[in-house]
Amino acid sequence: MPELPEVETVRRTLEPVLTGRTLKRVAIEDGRLTRPYDPVHIAAELQGERVSAVDRRGKYLILRFASGRALLVHLRMTGSFHVDEEPSHERAVATLDDRTRVSYRDVRRFGTWLLLEPDEVAPYLDAKVGEEPFDALFTVAHLGERIRKRKAPIKSALLDQRTLAGLGNIYTDEALWWARIHPLRPAESLERDEVRHLHRAIRRALERGIKRQGADLGDGVYRGGRMQKEFKVYGREGEPCDRCGTPIAKTRLGGRGTWFCPTCQAARASSVPARSRRQSSV
Ligand SMILES: [Zn+2]
Repeated sequence: MPELPEVETVRRTLEPVLTGRTLKRVAIEDGRLTRPYDPVHIAAELQGERVSAVDRRGKYLILRFASGRALLVHLRMTGSFHVDEEPSHERAVATLDDRTRVSYRDVRRFGTWLLLEPDEVAPYLDAKVGEEPFDALFTVAHLGERIRKRKAPIKSALLDQRTLAGLGNIYTDEALWWARIHPLRPAESLERDEVRHLHRAIRRALERGIKRQGADLGDGVYRGGRMQKEFKVYGREGEPCDRCGTPIAKTRLGGRGTWFCPTCQAARASSVPARSRRQSSV
């Protein structure tokens, strides 16, 4: 499932194609995309809209129109955009005023297109997603506030899009490795220093992902990224930890694979002095 780095890469690809262009013709061939609204009606509403900006909020891609309306696209599991291609599993296609063909493909059909009126956009997003991780408003104190008093595992708290926007399974595991925090630690048990490390680690993991244009997991859904070659833990069960050489372990949390280093991310790392921690884990 595309996370912030992948959606940001899609945004950067679409921005020069769509900005300033008018949607001349729109066809939506899958009712699930616009549910509960009629796809024919939504397609008709989109026709004639001029794109003023292509934004992103968390994992939402936002086509902002000159009219003030916005189309919120969530790629979910398998959604993707294709420019001047005719991919299989095409669910919608827009022809621009310069004749560019922008196609939306979605094999598993979990993606959504939601057209919002000008006054609906901000309230909708604010209810769904927390701060952007690179926004100045996302501070250490803010992160601490969001996870304090939460008994859930820290990984679950980070996957909750209201804690902060944009993390999914991959970058949460990566961020927790950078922060040396066990994914199953209760969120409320994190100490001040650990929250500070985690804050930096989240930005670091996402920044690396964006720089490498996301992760191409070889399933044909998201293509072209290089992040998969540099994962520290995700999908690396049994391979040595880059930091300490311990084989990476895998567990499950809420049905998702979860990878971590059992040494660097010891279950109660913070309560054990660094030296004895190393000795006890060997
Ligand atoms: Zn390690």
